[in-house]
Amino acid sequence: MKTVGFACTAVNEPLARFTFDRRAPRPNDVVMEILYCGVCHSDLHWARNDWGWTVFPAIPGHEIVGRVIDAGPEVTRYKIGDHVAVGCMVDSCQHCDQCKKGEEQLCRDGNTGTYGGFDRFTKEHTLGGYSKHLVVREEFALRVPDGLDLAKAAPLLCAGITTYSPLRTWNVGPGSRVGVIGLGGLGHMAVKLAAGMGADVTVLSRTKDKEADALALGADRLLASTDADAMAKAANSLDLIIDTVPVKHDLNPYMPLLDVDGTLVIVGQIGPVAEPSTVPLVLGRRRIAGSPIGGIRETQEMLDFCAKKNILPDVEMIRMDEINHAFERLERADVRYRFVIDMASLEG
Ligand code: NAP
Ligand code: ZN
Repeated sequence: MKTVGFACTAVNEPLARFTFDRRAPRPNDVVMEILYCGVCHSDLHWARNDWGWTVFPAIPGHEIVGRVIDAGPEVTRYKIGDHVAVGCMVDSCQHCDQCKKGEEQLCRDGNTGTYGGFDRFTKEHTLGGYSKHLVVREEFALRVPDGLDLAKAAPLLCAGITTYSPLRTWNVGPGSRVGVIGLGGLGHMAVKLAAGMGADVTVLSRTKDKEADALALGADRLLASTDADAMAKAANSLDLIIDTVPVKHDLNPYMPLLDVDGTLVIVGQIGPVAEPSTVPLVLGRRRIAGSPIGGIRETQEMLDFCAKKNILPDVEMIRMDEINHAFERLERADVRYRFVIDMASLEG
């Protein structure tokens, strides 16, 4: 089907209006009209080819909320008019042990990214949510719970699940002491979700500038990671640290903050980090781990949790044609705390 979006046609080129064809719907697909799409730092990495594997033209966007406008004859879960959401994946093999466990993000055959993937049947390059329409198999469409504000829900589909999943994997609950490095899109969701689970939350930001925000978001304190004295005083005070920093950085200053058996889980930078010392790891029985997004079952669980607890991101709504300026602001961490594109601003 013909649709329109905003694409980046080469590295360092601004995103611009782009008309293209979505693949023809298959019997188990729903066709969505996209209403809102969040702006993740991964979108910026993708447009800038930071990971080295961008395929152009590239349409980013994997925090997608919309309405079903058509459903194939084999679709059983959704009907026209339903509000649905799509995150970072649109397909997986559905047969391997990880898919069967509902951990499609870890599919042995690789999941199909909402952008930057290749359709498993047509082999076409997938294009993301900065567009009017999306075609997706029903298993990868999430139900937006009634009562969840549609305009704000989109960032839950990546920033929400990417931080919810490690909080669940490491059994965070009342009494857990959680640190969050970087108060951006993912970081502010990590704070809200961890606080919603009853944890004691410490934000680790580069400066004190976001202290009032951190407390308002539900954190118990903000620690400036550049304040060596304050960092030394906080030694052994955390069970889990979620690291959302989007660039190459040094983990060593953070490791002593973990208590025995504590884990620093990287959800931000994909690629090399500065050389980590094994001293705090070995002597303190601490761990460094990583975590990618989350599975479909867990994503639905997260949406339902957010609806029940009324947890939503703090968003700044933008028009589609403001995306290049939004990217510049995202690059300098000038967003409080997630841009969301109102897709009604894009003429069909
Ligand atoms: P974001 O909104 O830009 O937030 C990143 C935060 O990191 C900033 O607000 C800033 O917090 C801190 N930061 C920025 N530059 C820094 C630097 N040079 N040194 C130290 N800290 C810095 O980004 P996001 O959308 O949350 O995404 C964060 C990262 O997660 C990206 O790399 C993205 O690709 C990745 N990601 C991974 C997954 C996954 O599946 N694992 C999913 C989604 C996104 P302060 O100002 O508080 O220091
Ligand atoms: Zn993302």
